Amino acid sequence: MHESLDLSPDSLVVAAGRPDRERDAPVNPSVVLSSTFIGTGPLGAGDRGYGRYANPTWEAFEDVLGRLEGSAEPALLFSSGLAAVSAALSLVPLGGVVVMPGHSYAGTVQMASELADKGLFTLRLVDIADTDAVLAALTAEDRAADLLWLESPTNPMLGVADLPVLIAEGRKAGALVVVDNTFCTPLVQQPLLLGADLVLHSVTKYLAGHSDVVLGALVARDPGLRDTLLHHRALHGSIAGPWEAWLALRGLRTLALRVERSQASAQVLAERLDAHPAVDRVRFPGLPQDPGHERAAAQLKGFGSILAIEVGASGGHSGAENADALVRALRLWVPATSLGGVESLIERRRRHVAEPVSVPDNLVRLSVGIESAEDLWADLSQALDALPGHGG
Ligand SMILES: *Cc1c(COP(=O)(O)O)cnc(C)c1O
Repeated sequence: MHESLDLSPDSLVVAAGRPDRERDAPVNPSVVLSSTFIGTGPLGAGDRGYGRYANPTWEAFEDVLGRLEGSAEPALLFSSGLAAVSAALSLVPLGGVVVMPGHSYAGTVQMASELADKGLFTLRLVDIADTDAVLAALTAEDRAADLLWLESPTNPMLGVADLPVLIAEGRKAGALVVVDNTFCTPLVQQPLLLGADLVLHSVTKYLAGHSDVVLGALVARDPGLRDTLLHHRALHGSIAGPWEAWLALRGLRTLALRVERSQASAQVLAERLDAHPAVDRVRFPGLPQDPGHERAAAQLKGFGSILAIEVGASGGHSGAENADALVRALRLWVPATSLGGVESLIERRRRHVAEPVSVPDNLVRLSVGIESAEDLWADLSQALDALPGHGG
């Protein structure tokens, strides 16, 4: 694509990150399998040097993701989402303060808690949907926050944060603001444009989109911050394999289509689930009665395609037992953890021992894929109808 082209995200995912248009050039970047790169003089900026510092296949993906998030800087690809979390948390000074949603991705909270237990920093966990509580935590006691972690909507409770306010207040308090944008993708929410310093992705999820790689990424606005993180990645070796990077770029090409389809289906399914007597509650910001609806409508381009339901008790069975029975009775939905793939995934979250007990034990998270919404609903409704007390 020509550098001067001003493209919408739907076109960027297709057109960016391709080789220069020279006669007989390939249309796609190659998988570059090389642990080192030729050089004779002193290594300078822009030299690849060695396979732990750079790889052309990463660069194609990093180019596209940086642009999608609205940064002039390319993204940085990591070996996993959590490797990117680790790099972001390394920015906190010794003895500093981190403010983080209690309902962030469980691995993120676990990592931050373990680092805090070692005494590296103080961790203040907050309810991210409660703006006043977050603002209080930013400036509490005698030490302002050094890093504000944001994740919205939250996993798996689908709480929606007032992102514009929290980002602005976080920066005003002097904190570095990091937003985990995995759930939304840059097509739905662009936190850097609201002033955030860093955006994080588990590329494993929507960006790669086919449940075939584990990868992560960070996008910075500031070139100096990007350099610091690049140095961390090179020194800690948290790098992606070239094959995985290539697969992620291949998946990214259809991101706009996948997000459009799965968001539309999620809305239909949320409304139908909400009307089903076996379901006590649907958490989905696209429903008008959802507590996060107004914020989401103001902040997001769409409502995402993750929803959570709480399955009711019936026929002498607890909600958690019915939730397990529901998952077992499905034939099209795939019972597995993770999200953001072409296939619809479902799981009762509390089957993970690390899941906070504040997540209801009858809560089932659904990641809506790109199958026919009618087929997805037929499968869900047969399984719900079969629960005890509902005909089963
Ligand atoms: C999966 C996930 C992560 C962790 O990413 P991995 O690629 O599994 O290491 C972080 N944040 C969110 C929101 C996630 O869904």
